[in-house]
Amino acid sequence: MNTVQTKLKRYQLFIDGEFVEPSDGKYLRSVNPTTGEPWYEVARATATDVDRAVGSARHAFEDERWRYMPPAERGRLLRRIADGLAAAGPRLAEIETRDNGKLIREMRAQLSHLPAFWEYFSGWPDKLDSSVIPPANATTLNYMRREALGVVAAITPWNSPLLVTTYKLAPALAAGNAVVLKPSEHTSASVLEFMHVLEEAGVPPGVVNVVSGDGATTGDALAAHSGVDLISFTGGNQTGRLIAARAATGPVPTMLELGGKSPNIIFSDANLHNASLGVVAGIFAAAGQSCVAGSRCLVERPVYDDLVGLIVDRAGAIKLGDPLEEATEVGPVAFEGHMEKVLSFVDLARAEGADILLGGGRATEDELGSGFYVEPTVIAGATNEMRAVREEIFGPVLSVIPFDDEEEALRLANDSPFGLASGLWTRDLSRAHRLAHRIEAGTVWINTYREQTPSSPIGGFKGSGYGKENGREVMEEMTRLKSVWVNLDDRPVPDPFRMSFASDRDT
Ligand code: NAD
Repeated sequence: MNTVQTKLKRYQLFIDGEFVEPSDGKYLRSVNPTTGEPWYEVARATATDVDRAVGSARHAFEDERWRYMPPAERGRLLRRIADGLAAAGPRLAEIETRDNGKLIREMRAQLSHLPAFWEYFSGWPDKLDSSVIPPANATTLNYMRREALGVVAAITPWNSPLLVTTYKLAPALAAGNAVVLKPSEHTSASVLEFMHVLEEAGVPPGVVNVVSGDGATTGDALAAHSGVDLISFTGGNQTGRLIAARAATGPVPTMLELGGKSPNIIFSDANLHNASLGVVAGIFAAAGQSCVAGSRCLVERPVYDDLVGLIVDRAGAIKLGDPLEEATEVGPVAFEGHMEKVLSFVDLARAEGADILLGGGRATEDELGSGFYVEPTVIAGATNEMRAVREEIFGPVLSVIPFDDEEEALRLANDSPFGLASGLWTRDLSRAHRLAHRIEAGTVWINTYREQTPSSPIGGFKGSGYGKENGREVMEEMTRLKSVWVNLDDRPVPDPFRMSFASDRDT
């Protein structure tokens, strides 16, 4: 049993294959952002619980049945997880919508694509190649071994709980690691429910553990734990810095998938209708709570008025409402404190002299008043220096800025502490590639936005972090490379008191 029935449903920790009470008996409440009401309680793991979870993961990793599981068998295990996730997807999607207020359409789409990520990574265990280094002579054999790291700590945010968990967990398991997951305190339910899918698929006890809880207590204890071999973190920039600083004392390697302030650049020759929809999708989908949100719209001056008109018309017609309703286009933001933060940035932009072309406040009509709804907001007259344009808002707030030519567009796009993603809308192929090469962002979308596939690596530049998820690249992050040297020569070493170079030997 994973729950103890009290007034609210309770989720316990998942350690060593069992749902268990936190050592101090403390639980946190998770609030449904659509109703503003708490709807379940989730265990807050103490440092003692984190220590148990890391110990259990270590023990599972050391077990030869997991560590040396034949690669084809590991692949089959991941495919069973894909099947289980496909079956549980609709139920998990509904849980996620209740947890973070994202549209049921969005969460169903995410969940329906996640099995494909598990299938993709199920193909890696028997393809993790190790190479032989070209021999410097006939009597040296030097080859590389790609090995699992050990215990991976995965710390995740609330905006796409199982998507981000899958980005980390699927490659970690494909590589043969054991994992301790720390979901966001706002959205732990779907990840804990997912443990049933793993159990049914046959993941051995201890290979995956979940320590729910807040960042300061549980997250910090995990980031500081000396038994962890990699911290894979997705979340805010400040938290990322804290975690990297903690990890540096190990030193424990980190992957940081942080926030962004991504530019969406529209040239006069673009298909303006599609571009305006791309901008709307890039910032208002998911109420802007997407790390790759295209929150800075840069528009070439000749089409500025037309494009801004199209954006304001479409954004002004957005249907706000209950994210469980099929017709709703934008739901609430995830929690009250976050709504206040989003609105404070709009106030700041106003105070700094920007014009609010659309929205700018909390939406309270009818039933919206009980939830945490922010009106789709368009800010004009902003400069790249304003805080609302420099800092990540993570809400439905778009800034539009005109530019005169390609160089100015590039300068504005790159004048940001972040470098996560970017969009370009133009029919000029040469310009599209020219800019794609010069934009400082880990992803460049041309005449599209927010597309992805498991085989294409994602990850930020500059303040958006480091490390790549998805693709072959994440398999490299989740493994370590060992160089093995074999001397095939029986002759005595010529000089034992100096470093030996393979090229010294002539045979
Ligand atoms: P957050 O940084 O507040 O929290 C993320 C996770 O870190 C949570 O599990 C939290 O409990 C934990 N945490 C908080 N403080 C901690 C500490 N001191 N030590 C260890 N763990 C700690 O982020 P959030 O508000 O949950 O998520 C929103 C952020 O995530 C945005 O900045 C968004 O851009 C980013 N994000 C990035 C990507 C990406 O792939 N680059 C994807 C999704 C979200």
